[in-house]
Amino acid sequence: MKELETILRDRILAQGPIPVADFMAECLLNPRFGYYTTRDPLGAAGDFTTAPEISQMFGELLGLSLAQAWLDQGAPAPFTLAELGPGRGTLIADILRATRAVPGFQDAAQIWLIEASDPLRETQKTTLAGHRIEWTDRADSLPDQPLFLVANEFFDALPIRQFIRHGNGWTERRIGLEEGQFTFTQAPPAPEPSLSHRLADTRECDLVEVSPDAPTIARPIGQRIENHGGAALIIDYGDWRSLGDTLQALHRHERANPLENIGESDLTAHVDFEVLARASPTAHTRLTPQGGFLERLGITERARVLATGLDGKPLQSHIAAHRRLTHPSEMGTLFKVLGLYPKSAKPPPGLEP
Ligand code: SAH
Repeated sequence: MKELETILRDRILAQGPIPVADFMAECLLNPRFGYYTTRDPLGAAGDFTTAPEISQMFGELLGLSLAQAWLDQGAPAPFTLAELGPGRGTLIADILRATRAVPGFQDAAQIWLIEASDPLRETQKTTLAGHRIEWTDRADSLPDQPLFLVANEFFDALPIRQFIRHGNGWTERRIGLEEGQFTFTQAPPAPEPSLSHRLADTRECDLVEVSPDAPTIARPIGQRIENHGGAALIIDYGDWRSLGDTLQALHRHERANPLENIGESDLTAHVDFEVLARASPTAHTRLTPQGGFLERLGITERARVLATGLDGKPLQSHIAAHRRLTHPSEMGTLFKVLGLYPKSAKPPPGLEP
């Protein structure tokens, strides 16, 4: 998008090369021209597809895990049922459908969606017609009460800074201009206090990514869960600790150069789950592969039940969806699940301490 390119170019000309996070934030969330603020990027016609868009089973099982955690904690009422970055609203709609049968759950639930994109808020309104919903763009404005929350492919959309180790300092990878084209450059080495815990497990020239917003969002969520009860299920691609360059651009389902098609491709990075767990005052579960998590919640049984009504092409695509969500060569091990839960409670079903 030309306007966005000009904004970034002018900024670099005025202040010199900018951190990757500033570039990402502008590309994704510029209020007028950003990727998320101007479109619905999901599905076959968009740039990427997510687990809830692949099959209703994903949201149903997450919903039942949260509802069981709610029952295990004495069915507190009222409580907040929240989602970070709900996209089209498919996941929360599947959660609401699957939990209709849980006595008292829906009556006690106050639904909050944390969403930065106006077009996606409109889509969510349509998907969730008939439900009372509150929208916010800040996790710290959620009510002070028990909180049951899901976040699927949300934290990977947050801007990251990239640092390369040199001696006991770090040089920041930045984005500058060379002959009018965007290009990666490096700032001079400097100490980086947020990376002091990474001096022990990294070597010269290793690249480490830091999302400044991730702990700021995880903390108020964890505080509500620890103080009032609740649970969070955070699903994303990534690992316990970030290592290496994982900045990725997806344009029409193909990998693209993050410095091209400005504002027209989805920019993501792998999630550093340790940072989320450490920012939260709650207990946290073991980081669990998505495939194993869904298996433990009974996805194969649920898939069998749904398959009985299907034939031909719909049956083929149902079988493919089950495989896509669980198989190690698809989303089964790349995607991981972290649960946050009160220190005094059991972990949500499907996850272990
Ligand atoms: N969870 C959905 C969509 C994932 S796409 C699914 O699984 O299908 C990422 C979502 O996060 C989009 O809804 C996007 O608009 C939203 N988002 C990205 N950055 C955000 C931010 N900083 N604050 C709030 N929402 C954000």
